[in-house]
Formats: sequence, structure tokens, C-alpha cells
Amino acid sequence: MLSFQTSIPTEYAVARVGIRVYCTVCKDPKLPRGRSEPMLSGPYCRSYDEYDIGKPGCPGYEQDPKVGCLWPGESQRDYGYCTCVVGTKELTFTDDDRLSVNLYDGDFGSVGDRVLKNRIVTTRKPHRCNWCNESHDIAIGSRARVEAGVFDGQFMTSYVCVGGINTYLEEHA
Ligand SMILES: [Zn+2]
Ligand SMILES: [Zn+2]
Ligand SMILES: [Zn+2]
Repeated sequence: MLSFQTSIPTEYAVARVGIRVYCTVCKDPKLPRGRSEPMLSGPYCRSYDEYDIGKPGCPGYEQDPKVGCLWPGESQRDYGYCTCVVGTKELTFTDDDRLSVNLYDGDFGSVGDRVLKNRIVTTRKPHRCNWCNESHDIAIGSRARVEAGVFDGQFMTSYVCVGGINTYLEEHA
């Protein structure tokens, strides 16, 4: 009897990234909390005149819309210890995004290689995830990407857990 490990697939892995937040008082973008102002950009709206450079503190900084600690486009994963909801947006991925990840970059490439099927399915039988570094099973009823084709003259089918692809997309967002 196969046993199914459930710790790996994080099916609904979600990343948040910073967005630019404009101050309604001074109209400048708000400096993310706890971050220092880059020398060559700005001016930024800031809470107080920390370094005596640029502009003085703005009363609008603490008003809505609030800013978090991430730079625009920076992910919580990149920064490491951010749990802000303000000043961020959720990064979501579609199945088209998941299907367009090149899973086996460089591993294949013989003349005659052909992808015959590339789809996201809900599994009805147990499969081994063919991609994650840590080897694991994909439980029945999970979403997985299935790719079938001819590689090196052999017909092959591989299953990859959606959680693993989500993590990849987050890391490369
Ligand atoms: Zn301001
Ligand atoms: Zn934060
Ligand atoms: Zn996996």
C-alpha cells in the first residue's frame, strides 16, 4: 500500500507583493515603512524628517491609503519577514501560467520530441510528483499538471503537483 505524504503540495500558495501607495496630502509615493530612501530616486512621502534629506515628514503618511514595508513589486518572500496586507496586492496565478512553466528546461531536446498533452487535471489515481526536489506522491483528487509526449523516442507521461508550480511561480514573480 502506498502512503501519501501531504506536507509538500501547497495547493493554494499565495504571494503578496508591494504596490505603490500615493499620499493624498503631498501626492508623492509613500516610502515603505522601515526602508531607507534610495539616494537617486524620490521624493517620497515619509513620516518624519529622518535623515534631514529630501523633504520633511508629511502628515499624510499615516493616513489612508496606508503603506506597508514592501517596495512596489517586491514580494513578501523576497523581503523575508513581511506579513503586511496594507500596501500589497495578492499575486495570483492562472492555469495558463502554470502550464507555461518550462518544467524540463534543457533536459530534453532530441529531434522528434513532441508534447502531445499538457493540461491541469484533478487526479483520480495516485501519481508520483515528477518535479519537486523533495520526492513526494500526489494524492488522489489533487490538481496536477500532466504532460505526455514523445521524448528521446519514448512515450512518457509525467505528473507535477500544482503546489510545486505555484512555488516556482512565486519565486520567479
Ligand atoms: Zn505625503
Ligand atoms: Zn510588511
Ligand atoms: Zn510536487
